[in-house]
Amino acid sequence: MARSSSSSKQDRVFANFASPRGRVYDSILDTVGGTPLVALPRMTKLDGLKARVLLKLEFFNPLSSVKDRIGVAMLRDAEARKLIKPGHTVLIEPTSGNTGISLGFAAAALGYRLVVTMPESASIERRKMLRLMDVQLELTPAARGMAGAIARANELLETLPDAWMPSQFDNPANPAVHAATTAEEIWADTDGEVDVVIAGLGTGGTLSGIAHRLHSRKPDLAFYGIEPTESAILHGDDPGPHGIQGIGPGFCPNTLDRKALTDVLTVSERDSIAAARRCARIEGIPIGISSGAALHAALTIAEDPKHEGQTIVAIAPSFAERYLSTSLFTGLT
Ligand code: PMP
Repeated sequence: MARSSSSSKQDRVFANFASPRGRVYDSILDTVGGTPLVALPRMTKLDGLKARVLLKLEFFNPLSSVKDRIGVAMLRDAEARKLIKPGHTVLIEPTSGNTGISLGFAAAALGYRLVVTMPESASIERRKMLRLMDVQLELTPAARGMAGAIARANELLETLPDAWMPSQFDNPANPAVHAATTAEEIWADTDGEVDVVIAGLGTGGTLSGIAHRLHSRKPDLAFYGIEPTESAILHGDDPGPHGIQGIGPGFCPNTLDRKALTDVLTVSERDSIAAARRCARIEGIPIGISSGAALHAALTIAEDPKHEGQTIVAIAPSFAERYLSTSLFTGLT
């Protein structure tokens, strides 16, 4: 058999691979966004679901999390406003991890020094990633949670000259980039056929931004935020320790527009981990713990007959490997 005909036959077998991007990127920063929406065919069948559940896989971003969007957006926005200058400004940010890593690559690629403050409870792999990108780390007591990291960052901001804080919990560029990119991607990839969007609430930027952009386009579209059962402050409970890194900061941030959301649901750490493990095992998609929380909520909502035939999009912010030392992997040796 001629080589060309056999290779074209074989090429057809591989036809479902993603298409070429059709361009060469000038910088790693330009590769953020454009993450895929992926169906869960095996789970849908096993659970007998009559709604379509799609995961938006944010770990396709270059540093493997949804936070790459705001890491780049907050610095680009500050540069456009002439608030920061490479080689001069020191960036300082309190973060439980993913935002630090995303600011880390953006700071390195743009030529900034970055100091990150974080609770000592954040996973070791996050800390090591920061060190790899030459980020300066200040660990704060786990018992004080994110509030402790924020207080320390504010102290540093006062003492270091030419320091600037991106302030992911306050910065309008956070929800704005999700309106401009995440929301538009969901809309374009579903041709507007989306009925429910679900996302865990950390800063609230992801879901608030999506809601701001899509609500007027489709007023029936529902936006469900997720907070940890163990720290359900939006339900009036006291903040508490929990293992769903990235969501449930223990206070209501300025970047969270509660009014833009249809409702806030609670998901426990246990259910989040169970959903994340099932997703890896059954679909071959190893997601992080907060992704498990969004998936658990999506599957629960999909069981409700009122959502029959509808499309439910759940945001999967990160990849399982960022949680190697956490309860996601407990018992797996
Ligand atoms: N999950 C993970 C793993 C995260 O890092 C974050 C961001 N802190 C979120 C969920 C929540 O996203 P947002 O801050 O946009 O609400």
